[in-house]
Amino acid sequence: MTVRHSDVVVIGAGITGLSVALHLAEAGIKPLVLEREGVAAGASGVQPGGVRQQWSTPLNCRLARESAAFFADLPSRLDSTLPLGFSQCGYAFLAHSEERLAQLADAVLIQNAAGVPSTLLSPDEAAATVTGLATDGLAGASWCGEDGYFDRPQSVVEAFAQAAWARGAELQVADVVSISPDGDGWTLTLRDGSSIVTERVVLAAGCDTAALAATAGIDLPIEREARHLFYSEPIADRILEPLVVAPERHFAAKQLADGRILASDLAATGDPDAGRAEWLGHVRRVATDLLPRLTYVSFSISVTGFYDVTPDNQPVLGSVDGLPGLYLAAGFSGHGFMLAPAVGRRIAEAVLGGVADDALEEFSYARFARGALQRELVTV
Ligand SMILES: Cc1cc2nc3c(=O)[nH]c(=O)nc-3n(C[C@H](O)[C@H](O)[C@H](O)COP(=O)(O)OP(=O)(O)OC[C@H]3O[C@@H](n4cnc5c(N)ncnc54)[C@H](O)[C@@H]3O)c2cc1C
Repeated sequence: MTVRHSDVVVIGAGITGLSVALHLAEAGIKPLVLEREGVAAGASGVQPGGVRQQWSTPLNCRLARESAAFFADLPSRLDSTLPLGFSQCGYAFLAHSEERLAQLADAVLIQNAAGVPSTLLSPDEAAATVTGLATDGLAGASWCGEDGYFDRPQSVVEAFAQAAWARGAELQVADVVSISPDGDGWTLTLRDGSSIVTERVVLAAGCDTAALAATAGIDLPIEREARHLFYSEPIADRILEPLVVAPERHFAAKQLADGRILASDLAATGDPDAGRAEWLGHVRRVATDLLPRLTYVSFSISVTGFYDVTPDNQPVLGSVDGLPGLYLAAGFSGHGFMLAPAVGRRIAEAVLGGVADDALEEFSYARFARGALQRELVTV
């Protein structure tokens, strides 16, 4: 049986594991990244690149601001020649009830206190901001002009991988079947029967993190939840600016740089073969009501991916009491791409024995036992 040794192993080459690996490599550690299929084989290969700073908790606003600053300087930060254009079109969250508007207003106060330049809009202001928005039943909206999306989000993931390799990280294609504490370190058993012994291991395996953690006796409350995106063919005219989310209508849409419209039914759950026609019908109905300019858009392509969802829609980050050398970075509940720069830095610092960190404390695994859950309310 082959046994390989490594100081630090990161399991998962999605955006999270790659950001951790990048930050470790920048600190002079050469992590070994173990990935079952290939770079961006999980949710990171499906996500459409949304990056926003509108959140309902101070911590998420801070993580988002740190990540936004990293993303703003991405090509030079990663020494990348890949197309990494960020479209800063803004995000509008619509409220179709006074209750939702009050929730958005509370969130805007929290965002502003953290330095996020968001604001609350009246229905008329929302209509002036969102091309062709119907204001029937609209109570108002929140808006942040610094939000937007990467038009080629998978290029961003590849750029993280290239930058990590260039700085000394190593990738091995390997399916990890179990992890177990072993003296001062960890033994990772691979599907081919070989094993890797490491001092420190970071679990960044997306939806599969809970199954791996279970092999070390950790009961992680992370559920796999299917999400479905509908794409149109490219449309020559710009008919939708900016990105619109209508949570009470379970609807989100944006127009990509190449003209395609991307839309989703945020409540779609279950078997895609059985549900696709119904979800598409919902998308078309809401698009017609809310954004009449989308009435004749045909959504010919659908793509399914999976969120790794926790009970409070917050990730699980950092170490686990009683299991030294193990670090968790999963459960991103649909927003792991946009927070990856800040998360990667903080996990890497913890692995290197850094000082206490507010995010790793608030999002620790221990919070579930304490019952100290603060749910993130601004989700998509
Ligand atoms: C439809 C959809 C839309 C989304 N939109 C956005 C958005 O606009 N903005 C945003 O910020 N986020 C968005 N997200 C969420 C985002 O995609 C995820 O939060 C993020 O990609 C998680 O990255 P990750 O690296 O943690 O996990 P993943 O990308 O899932 O990576 C985990 C990796 O681990 C590997 N792996 C798993 N098990 C093992 C094992 N046993 N051994 C070895 N390797 C293993 C997998 O092959 C995979 O490559 C969206 C997600 C979906 C599905």
